[in-house]
Amino acid sequence: MAERDSIGWQQQTLFALAAAAGLFSIGMHLPWRQALSQNPLLAAIQSTGQKQPTPAEVRARTVGPPAPLIYSPPARFQGQIIYHSQLPSKEKVIALTFDDGPWIETPKVLGILKEYDVKATFFMIGQHVQTYPDIAKQVVAAGHALGNHTWHHYTHQMDGATAAAEIDNTSNRIFQVTGVKTQLFRPPAGRLENGLAEYARNQKNSVVMWSVDPLDWLESTSPQSLVKAVLDNAQPGGIVLLHDGGGNRTRTLQALPPIIAELKQRGYRFVSVQELLEMEDREMNAIDEVEAKAKADNLKQQL
Ligand SMILES: [Zn+2]
Repeated sequence: MAERDSIGWQQQTLFALAAAAGLFSIGMHLPWRQALSQNPLLAAIQSTGQKQPTPAEVRARTVGPPAPLIYSPPARFQGQIIYHSQLPSKEKVIALTFDDGPWIETPKVLGILKEYDVKATFFMIGQHVQTYPDIAKQVVAAGHALGNHTWHHYTHQMDGATAAAEIDNTSNRIFQVTGVKTQLFRPPAGRLENGLAEYARNQKNSVVMWSVDPLDWLESTSPQSLVKAVLDNAQPGGIVLLHDGGGNRTRTLQALPPIIAELKQRGYRFVSVQELLEMEDREMNAIDEVEAKAKADNLKQQL
């Protein structure tokens, strides 16, 4: 009996080593990420991963005074510039982002998002948070994520002290008004070379750019062309640039319902930028684990 068990163990070990070697050689011959993303082992790891509660869910469960909501990207994205998420799973998730608020039109955006049960990310201007604190609070109460979009929306070159003040004063005001701390930063006009992004990256913010820009702020953009621009360019892991502040937002408000309806029809789920980065981080961690295990098993086989 003992001998049979021993043989069985040896067979199982050989089988496991052969499987690991096979996995490793597949990884060597195909683009490794593609090979691993198709691997059932990875799927198993991903399926066992607990879904992390969103900050809003954590807050909802909290008894007593509300804890601050913290939007802190996973370490691998801190100090990085993000244009879109490179989700290995290619899961159909997309992030709507709204810049330049809070603004008098923001509650209308919130109304549409609520109607479609969509969570988004709002990159707020510090002086607007000061002017419209109640609207900033409404955004947070509705469960949306916040990012920092500087105090004045300067786009010109500035020295380090000015860049620091633009970002830190906005962070502080957002926290005072809403209780939210955020390390999601979007530079005004997407300018990466004027000192703001450099300071934000040094402070371990993620500099959040976008993969879809339908130019909703341009007077000449019609709601129809806005809808088309978003739908033509939507991809899994995409980040869509829209505006809730900075002027007449009629175009954006008209385009938003058909954009959301069609993307839902295509199977997309809407997530905040924070959630998007957390998803990518979990998938990358799972891939790292599988790769490390395959390497370790291959090493064992060589011994
Ligand atoms: Zn802006």
